[in-house]
Amino acid sequence: MEIKENILLSIFTSIKIGGRARYFCEPGDIGELREALVFARTKKLPIFILGGGTNIIVKDSGYAGLVIKLSGGFRNIERRENILSAGGGALLSSLIQTAISFGLSGLENLSGIPGTVGGAIVGNAGAFSSQISDHLTVVNILTKDGEEQVIKEPKFLYRNSNLRDKIILQGDFFLKPNVSWRMEEQRKQILEKRSLSQPIGKKTAGCIFKNPAGISAGELIEKTGLSGFRVGDARISEKHKNFIENMGNARAVDVFQLINIIREKVYALHKINLTEEVIIV
Ligand SMILES: Cc1cc2nc3c(=O)[nH]c(=O)nc-3n(C[C@H](O)[C@H](O)[C@H](O)COP(=O)(O)OP(=O)(O)OC[C@H]3O[C@@H](n4cnc5c(N)ncnc54)[C@H](O)[C@@H]3O)c2cc1C
Repeated sequence: MEIKENILLSIFTSIKIGGRARYFCEPGDIGELREALVFARTKKLPIFILGGGTNIIVKDSGYAGLVIKLSGGFRNIERRENILSAGGGALLSSLIQTAISFGLSGLENLSGIPGTVGGAIVGNAGAFSSQISDHLTVVNILTKDGEEQVIKEPKFLYRNSNLRDKIILQGDFFLKPNVSWRMEEQRKQILEKRSLSQPIGKKTAGCIFKNPAGISAGELIEKTGLSGFRVGDARISEKHKNFIENMGNARAVDVFQLINIIREKVYALHKINLTEEVIIV
């Protein structure tokens, strides 16, 4: 496995922002992943596990460490009766499509959430009252010291888990038999709903802030009148106020400035402190 140097990270993110990684590699199996960890340890480098890059803002200065993107065998999806085992690097959309094609139900509401299974598990991704943790039974992880562990009862919170500092190798999903065409219909309806409420196809990083308990962060932002407000090429989406769009050449600093403005305005108006959902790298 080649460990590359000075790799531009913006191209690996959905918002297309960010500088270069000092080192970058794409291990295809556990042996290569361990090699990468040894490399980082020897050089005393921090590591960052990159999924689909759909919930991160990489700083303009880049990442002074090793970025690891799981590939090859980490993208496999296998079936054992009603259980689908998906590698941490598999696309969530592929897992959902595979489940539907096997007539296995439970994940349809997550249709349209971009990114990988690993990223979804770590952040407990969810939509339409479902989260990835609902059907997840077992998670295989590697600690950053290279120890493999099977976690039978991972802890999940709203858009969070106790797996943040682990490397997700695989997740097992226990699903219910159902009729494929019905699930496909459900998937299509969910995708339609999303295209009405989210700036799909634009360069974004998903929701910037977590929803405070029982309140929509997007609605709080809307009431500040900031819809469409812009810093450089970073703009608050008019379609979904909790999304920031890169209109062309936005830099991470533009996004950070916009995030601060939103946070201040929301606090001034509602006395609520918004916390970020998006991960700053
Ligand atoms: C248009 C759009 C719509 C979205 N809609 C939703 C939505 O409805 N619901 C929702 O929850 N999210 C949504 N998101 C946000 C995002 O898609 C999810 O959070 C997704 O699960 C992130 O996965 P990723 O692979 O892209 O992770 P990344 O963005 O690459 O990384 C996010 C975090 O996960 C970690 N990570 C990634 N892979 C692994 C791994 N294998 N092991 C350990 N850590 C890992 C990273 O280190 C980082 O801390 C949306 C994003 C966009 C752009």
